[in-house]
Order: sequence, then structure tokens, then C-alpha cells
Amino acid sequence: SFKKVGSILVEKQIPLTLYRSSASGAKVVIVDHPGAMVNAEISFATAHQDDSGLAHTLEHLVFIGSKKYPYAKFLTSLAERSYGYINAFTSFDNTAFSIKTVGAEGFVKLLPVYLDNLLNPLLTESAYITEVHHINGEGQDAGVVYSEMKGRDFREHLKLNALTLGENSPFAKNLGGDPKVIRETCSLEKIKSYHKKFYRMENVIISVVGTVPHQKVLDVVEEFQNSNGFMKKDDFVRTYDDYTPPAITGKTVERMEIPAECDHGTVHVSWRGPDIWGEEIFPISQLLKYLTAGPEAPLYRQYINCSTPICAQVDTRSDKHKAAVIGVSFQGVNSEFLPVEKEHLFKEDLINLLKTHKFDLERMHDILKRDIEKIGLFLEGDVCDSIFSEVRLYQNYAPGISPESDELKHLASCHIEECEKALNYGEDYWKGLVEKYFNENFVVLYAIPSKELIEKEKKEEDERLKKQAEDLGEEGLRKCREDLEQAVAANKASEASPDLLKEYAAGELTDFAVIPV
Ligand SMILES: [Zn+2]
Repeated sequence: SFKKVGSILVEKQIPLTLYRSSASGAKVVIVDHPGAMVNAEISFATAHQDDSGLAHTLEHLVFIGSKKYPYAKFLTSLAERSYGYINAFTSFDNTAFSIKTVGAEGFVKLLPVYLDNLLNPLLTESAYITEVHHINGEGQDAGVVYSEMKGRDFREHLKLNALTLGENSPFAKNLGGDPKVIRETCSLEKIKSYHKKFYRMENVIISVVGTVPHQKVLDVVEEFQNSNGFMKKDDFVRTYDDYTPPAITGKTVERMEIPAECDHGTVHVSWRGPDIWGEEIFPISQLLKYLTAGPEAPLYRQYINCSTPICAQVDTRSDKHKAAVIGVSFQGVNSEFLPVEKEHLFKEDLINLLKTHKFDLERMHDILKRDIEKIGLFLEGDVCDSIFSEVRLYQNYAPGISPESDELKHLASCHIEECEKALNYGEDYWKGLVEKYFNENFVVLYAIPSKELIEKEKKEEDERLKKQAEDLGEEGLRKCREDLEQAVAANKASEASPDLLKEYAAGELTDFAVIPV
């Protein structure tokens, strides 16, 4: 059922071919790249509905066994034996699973096992207990995902996203799971229905970078979907089709406290960027570089390289979701510049600086030329990460995409060409871009460090844990301990035997593609 949609060259050099299954709507991207390594990514467009971290917990749970391979960590052990490496991540827009193997043979062998883990996971209660959340015998909350998220604080980023992409948007939800919400509302049932909604063939793109026989890869996917009866259904809605990013109107200034020991704060200033598929999205990222990078950059001179430095660092932000958010983040802002009376520094003064700055075309040309060199060098090396991220953007947001249609031109970057084109733009073009995008509609977010907040949150957590242990009592704690022990034992019992692993492992290191020298 797989038909070739077409081929296109990444950066006018590297051939990329897109295939689509007319039966399932699944898509396979194969990028022919010389070398012994095969890098692949299986990506789903996933959106966060709340703060319980369903996408992230699911990302962990799929490795605990599947219908056809009901063995815990089978895939990971198998990959190791096939000289391969498995990884996964959850972002604001995707859950993606990667696999790296030496040679195509190992890849082709692992792919059906991987797909079965992703599309037919067992999602057992015992795995939920150990991987997601449980209360241990001491009355403390634990679990792999829970512990991971306890160490991370997304509040600043989420607030920024709420202000720029919408309070109720998937981008304002904790992508890994808020520990409190994981404890209180996450459940195996919720994870199962999340899986049902997003993990389907219409919502998958399998991207492969390396030297692989295309037909063999397609055959594996075909065989997998046929044997499982995974066919296209009418109820499929592309993940982000329903989401419309709100406009940023007027000036909004928000302040938030973040738990931090230092005295320095961060100030983020954000605007709505150009259409992510339009002609201006690439130049705007170059313009941001021009404004901030290096001692000659206007923002660097104004905020750092001056008699009384305002901050320690200026970073740029150019986030591409369905809409782009562009902006600058002033890091390590001295406390004397954080009060309300000094807000003009990051509002009127900033806008004024951008508008009155005398444009240095020569420096812009240097930036563009350096980038052409950098991209050229990078194309000779490890291109897969940038290809995978282009594919994900395409999967999530490219216009005109469905299980029945594709728009190949959005799938391959051509930044070198864009740099060359930008070398011809005059001062007026760049000034026009500043005028158009760094306008009066923006959001300023102050993240102000607070030692008290650290203390307060620690105290609250200690009290909560104390109360939790008291409420459980001796009997309750004993039950927690037993449940955990049983779950660990059940997971352990479901691990594959070495013999079984051997049977599945890849063949000899003989027919692997190598770069001719
Ligand atoms: Zn994780």
C-alpha cells in the first residue's frame, strides 16, 4: 500500500524520499546518507491536555512490553545486542522514539519490535507503579517519571508559553507532568485513552537517515500494519488542526517568582513571529542573531557592554509551533533593574533602540556568510537531528497535510539558499522587518528569584509527606511496600530470557554499508 509521494533534496544536496500508505495513512521518510550508521525516528504528533504528563508517562511505559513481545525492556536489550541504541523524548508538540543501529540489517530487525511496543503496548499496572508513580514503604512519593519531574521546574517556560501561545493551549501545560497532578489525577486508564487517541498509523512518521533498502523498510511497516489490521479511519483529526494561536495584542507585563538562590532575574520579551512556512521566518532568525550575538550587537552593547551592565547575557528565542514566537531573553538581570520603575528598560527603551538603530549591513553579511559555512560543514556530518526536527514540524503544522495528502516542499530545508538570498537584501529590508515584527504588541515576563519561595515550597512538601505517612499509618505503609514489591517482581518476571534475546539479535557485522574511501 506504500506509494512514493516524491523526492526532494535537503539543502539541495541530500535526497529525501517520502512514502505514504494508502491503507493506513502512515508515512515513511527515507534520507539516503552514506555511512554505516542508520538513524531513525518514529514520531507522533501529541498534544498536552492537562498537567498530568500523559505523553511523557506513556513514553516511558511503551518500553515495558507489547502484545507480540510481552517482555519488559525487551526492545532496549535487543537493541544493545544488535549494536543499536534506543532513546525517546517528549516535547511540547511530539513524542518521538529514536533508534540508532550499525547497518541496515539491525534496523530492519528492530523496527517491527519497536512498532509493536509503540502501537500495541501492554501498559500494565505494575509498570505504572514503578515507572510512573507510587508511594513507597516510607510514605514518600516515587516512580521514575515522578522523580524525574520533581527535579525539573517548567513554570517560567509554561508561563511564557501561556502569555504568547494561549493560557489554555497545549503549550501552557506541563509537558513532563506536574508532580502534584501526577500524584492526584494521573492514572493508567487516562494513559490508555491517550495512547488510543494519538498512537495510530495516521499520526506517525517514520524517518530513516542512512543507507537502507527502501523497499525493505516499507515491507516491514506494511507487514506490521496488515497483521494488526491498522487501517485508516475516518475519525482521525490531525493533532493541531483545532488549535488556533491567539494574537498578541498590546503590551502585557507579568511578573512571577521562581524558586532560586541567586539575586539575578530573567526578563523575557516576546512577539508573534512570521508565518512559519513563509519567506520571513528564516531572515527573522538571522536578524535576532544580528541584534544579540557578539560585542558589536546593538542589544549586547546596550545591556551588557556598558558602564553599568544591566544583565549578563542576552539570548534569542525563535520557537516554531503552529505560530512562531520570537523574542529576546535577558539573563542574569541585576536586581536593581528588576523593580517596576525600571520596566521602561525592557519596554520603551528596547523598542526605541530597535527602531533607531543604524543598521550595519556588513555585519549582517558576515553573519550570513558564517552560517553558509556552518551549514555546509554540518551537511557533511550528522544531519539526522536537523532532518528529524524538520520532519516533526512538517508532521505537526505543514499546511495541506493529511493521511491522504502531502506537500513535499515543506519537508526539506534550504537554509543555504535562504542565506544567499538574504545577502542581497538591503538595509531597508532589514529595517522593515524590525518595524513589522518588533512592534508595539508584545509580552514582557519577569522571572524574579525568591529564596523564600524555596523555603516555603520545601516546608509545604515536608508537611505534606509527614501527613501522608501519618494518614497511611503502619497498615497503609505496609500495603504500599507490598504493592511496590509485587510490581517490581512482576516487571522482573516479564523480562526476556537471554536465549530469546539471542534469537532475535542482529547478524554478523558483514554486510553493513560503509563509506567508500
Ligand atoms: Zn522521562
